[in-house]
Amino acid sequence: MDHFAFLLPVIFCVFGLTFLFVGRHEPRSAPWWGFGYLSAALGFIMPVLPETIPGPFRALVADTLFLLALSFYGQGLLGQFRRILPIWPRALIVVIGVIASAVSTLIVQSPTLALLANDLLASLCLAVPAIAVLRHARGVAERLLLAAAFMVILDALVRNIVMTLLNQNPADFDTFLASPYAFFMQVTGTLIGLLLAFAALGCVTLEVIGRYKDVADRDSMTGLLNRRGFDRLAGRKTPMGAVIVCDIDHFKRINDRHGHAAGDDVIAELARLLAAGQAADTVLARFGGEEFVLFLPDLTIAAAVHVAEALKARIGSADWSQTGPVTASFGVAETRLGDLSIYEVVARADRALYGAKLAGRNRVFTENERLSDLHPEQARAVA
Ligand code: GH3
Ligand code: MG
Ligand code: MG
Repeated sequence: MDHFAFLLPVIFCVFGLTFLFVGRHEPRSAPWWGFGYLSAALGFIMPVLPETIPGPFRALVADTLFLLALSFYGQGLLGQFRRILPIWPRALIVVIGVIASAVSTLIVQSPTLALLANDLLASLCLAVPAIAVLRHARGVAERLLLAAAFMVILDALVRNIVMTLLNQNPADFDTFLASPYAFFMQVTGTLIGLLLAFAALGCVTLEVIGRYKDVADRDSMTGLLNRRGFDRLAGRKTPMGAVIVCDIDHFKRINDRHGHAAGDDVIAELARLLAAGQAADTVLARFGGEEFVLFLPDLTIAAAVHVAEALKARIGSADWSQTGPVTASFGVAETRLGDLSIYEVVARADRALYGAKLAGRNRVFTENERLSDLHPEQARAVA
């Protein structure tokens, strides 16, 4: 059992260092898990230290470290669930916990009282944030993390009550490791500590992956989705709706006259104008260059034409003092039952856009536009 006692601090220390390492990529919660596991590792090492260090003193240090560990876990939970709680009530619990431990270890010298105070107050340090994030758990990993956090709390409380009722608490601080209390603390501490660590590691990993996925799906210049991102949101399923394709008119001229940097500014500004006021389910992407694609779920082609006309008007009345007036052309198409993918609709909208360009630019064309309205040469080109 004494050999086993070394295992727990080592495992916790490994997790603590792992979390600190991962914290460089996920600074919101991982460092707190790291501090928590390192504090707990140091706490678990106290009973194993040589007896030349007085037992009550080791107990007091261990109690303080467990108060800190569970406070850090609580902060990790808040970081994971993006919640903020004022720090001072929890700092006050830690201070009260340290005072209660000092009184019960150094003055009253009662292990039962010391364990009661520490189990209760340390649990409270984790329980407050755990309850605060209770309704915000999303997905399996976060639910598992929350369940593990409540197991940590329940473990301390149940162990304390049961051991006190069965009179199995350590008789004095120096024989702590030989007590049934210490045995159960190490068994459940290892199991639940591992569960909490893996759940937290899972959440942190998913967070990091999610962030990189988001970066990969976005165009860095405009912040809009890129083609990949569009594919992820609109490409998989093919719900009914309409597609608007938008391309800046004579953009090469803007580049040639005002330089590439000014061209970039125009693209960024156009992205802002297109994004403003869009419905929450609209998928807006930059497909490359100065071409943008909007997918508007559930909209008919007539409704989408209204949207496109409004966008055209917005671009027309925007401030283009840097470059002189900027206009764009729009092609609109809607989904058909036989479409195999959204890209068939995008292709039809693209053809309509081509029609708009041939018809003189700065206008909205639909896939149903009568090509006979165009010059026969142009109509042939569009077809
Ligand atoms: P049209 O009215 O027919 O669309 O004429 P256009 O000049 O806009 O023709 P086109 O769409 O073929 O030209 C696109 C130009 O956009 C070509 C390319 O040099 C430029 N371009 C592509 N990506 C970027 C970019 O990220 N920044 C800048 N500044 N220019 C870009
Ligand atoms: Mg263009
Ligand atoms: Mg283009």
